[in-house]
Amino acid sequence: MGDVRAAVRNARERFSGASPETLLRWGADTFSGRVAISCSFGGPGGIVLIHMAHRLGLSIPVLFIDTGYLFPETYRLKEEVERAFSLPVRTVAPRLSPEEQAEQYGPRLWERDPDLCCSLRKVEPMAKALEGLDCWITSLRRDQSPTRASVEPVELHRLGSGREIVKLNPLAYWTRKDVWRYAAEHRLPYNPLLDQGYSSLGCVQCTARAGDGGERAGRWPGRAKTECGLHTFTERAGSRGSPGPVELGGSASRAGPPS
Ligand code: SF4
Repeated sequence: MGDVRAAVRNARERFSGASPETLLRWGADTFSGRVAISCSFGGPGGIVLIHMAHRLGLSIPVLFIDTGYLFPETYRLKEEVERAFSLPVRTVAPRLSPEEQAEQYGPRLWERDPDLCCSLRKVEPMAKALEGLDCWITSLRRDQSPTRASVEPVELHRLGSGREIVKLNPLAYWTRKDVWRYAAEHRLPYNPLLDQGYSSLGCVQCTARAGDGGERAGRWPGRAKTECGLHTFTERAGSRGSPGPVELGGSASRAGPPS
């Protein structure tokens, strides 16, 4: 635990203003075997990070949370990226199948209690996966939404077990334009639904076309909910108002969306 804290302090001093590639290399070297990139295969950010890791020759596995309710295009993109960049993708599934969840909690839980549904299908499996890691790499950016405006490239987080891990956000200071520029330059594949009016993709039943409402618009339409909880369930050191850690229960060859 002390080592993780020291690593974060050290990285913040050494890497102020560093490139995403520099941060990725640091994460891979410092936490070898205990580091992963999480990718939803919804937006382009995770694929940018996977491509950077591939270019740098870094062996960083990819974590994919499969809620069981994702778009067919998302599953297809995951397979395409897996083939193209030969990084191992570890699919993490919820404890309950969709049928078991309906049996235990009733049908269409996402309509009655989306926070509980997200907790069961996203947060719990991710919390479990993070227990095996010291460094979690994400594609979070400050410009994605007000809830992400204070994201730092290197953060220290506490899990439900009390263990501390590094959350590395190499794209924290990149803009949406930066991400799409990189994707276009490297002809990266991306989710084709982003060309069809969607700006952020999650589960089918909780995602709508976005209109002009911003990058996270279209998620949980008609509700105040804007986050699934994946990026709020850990307690960030130095932050106030965190809901706290969760306890574990039982082709840029295409042009890309306008930036
Ligand atoms: S996004 Fe909707 S369906 Fe998916 S886990 Fe959350 S509430 Fe459930």
